[in-house]
Amino acid sequence: MKESKKIVLPETGCICGKDHRSTVDEVIVGSGVVARLPEVLARYGAKKVFVLADKNTYKAAGERVCAILGDSGIEHTLYVMHKETIEPNEEAVGSVVMHFDNSCDMMVVVGTGVLNDVTKIVSTIRGKRYVIVATAPSMDGFASNSASVIRDKFKLSIDTCTASVIIGDTQILAAAPMRMLLSGIGDMIAKYISILEWKLANIICGDYYCEGVAEMIRQALRECVENAEGLVKRDEAAVAAVFKGLVLSGEAMMYAGVTRPASGTEHYFSHIWDMRGLDFGTPVDFHGIQCAVGTYQSMKVYEQLKKVHPDRDKALNYVKNFDVSAWQKQLRGYIGTGADMMIKIEEKEQKYSIEKHAERLEILLAKWDEIIGIINEELPTSEALDNLFNILGMPKDPSDIGQKDEDAKTVFLAVKDVRDKYVSTRLAWDLGILDEIEL
Ligand SMILES: [Zn+2]
Ligand SMILES: [Zn+2]
Repeated sequence: MKESKKIVLPETGCICGKDHRSTVDEVIVGSGVVARLPEVLARYGAKKVFVLADKNTYKAAGERVCAILGDSGIEHTLYVMHKETIEPNEEAVGSVVMHFDNSCDMMVVVGTGVLNDVTKIVSTIRGKRYVIVATAPSMDGFASNSASVIRDKFKLSIDTCTASVIIGDTQILAAAPMRMLLSGIGDMIAKYISILEWKLANIICGDYYCEGVAEMIRQALRECVENAEGLVKRDEAAVAAVFKGLVLSGEAMMYAGVTRPASGTEHYFSHIWDMRGLDFGTPVDFHGIQCAVGTYQSMKVYEQLKKVHPDRDKALNYVKNFDVSAWQKQLRGYIGTGADMMIKIEEKEQKYSIEKHAERLEILLAKWDEIIGIINEELPTSEALDNLFNILGMPKDPSDIGQKDEDAKTVFLAVKDVRDKYVSTRLAWDLGILDEIEL
């Protein structure tokens, strides 16, 4: 595996003005490293641990974890969640809380995505440290200090404590289902868009930005892309590149204090498919695969934005005639319950306010050449992205993951309302060309 010189961020004194400290004590990645679990737990003085798994992760690594603990004389209480589909919601958190053994001094979660999110919340409310034994490099939440959950049918992030130690045994990770490996690299490919939009939000809205954190993610993404062919062959070095990139993305969110380094337009496509799935039972795929499809769609948006010559009158007229309440009604009908929270966010943020728009528009007009330059600098060419997706066998279009073609436009229109963050579709709205974009 090609590995370029690692970027080391200063813990204190970064030019961005923030301290970049991680509360994760250690990340252990390598072949066979799960064997080091007892030594890790001993360092924290753990006498008895609560092991959480689901039936798949129990088979993938949980059984082995329990055997390793048994051999080293560390007592454990095992809870295997047997439900077919586990969502990171009130039910899952409640179930783990109610099975929790209070005589345990630490938690060990054997899994990825949902189990990690649930563990983060339980660990925070019970005040117990936890160690992750990852079973798939499928998403970037391992190191982050927030849990991506569903509350009242709305997808949101809740602040939590982080894992003390993250163990990524590449033998275990490489054996994960191929769609989970694809999901992991998909969550990394998403960073092309998230880093670009973080930078744009800095220029257009004055949002906080750190070039050091952004560069750290760009480098991790490059390593994943360079190893794409190896990933399809389950090469452990390629799997390690993806896992390290995902862990780093979680840390980057902590360093920045915002989710900007890791998510933008592409993630909001994914969130909308998730929310629609909850209310209407429409298809839902792995997070990172949805993000990859969202990235492919976002690229189409930027390709069209690059050809735009901003027109002040057109933009002002578009915004003057934009009917916010009619749009919110449409949003509610399309997204379902999750739309209520999106509307509340808008009430607070007022992104559709005519005055705020006029201010942003002047910045866009003054800095348009710079903005186009940044888009060209941050994004790969469409051909390069297409080639990467072909190597991986990654779904490209919403229809490739079971979404209806006729819904694509509505999802696209709704992504700007998911969070109070400046993303591609807001840029298109600001320019008065949102309805002209073709997917
Ligand atoms: Zn910084
Ligand atoms: Zn993600």
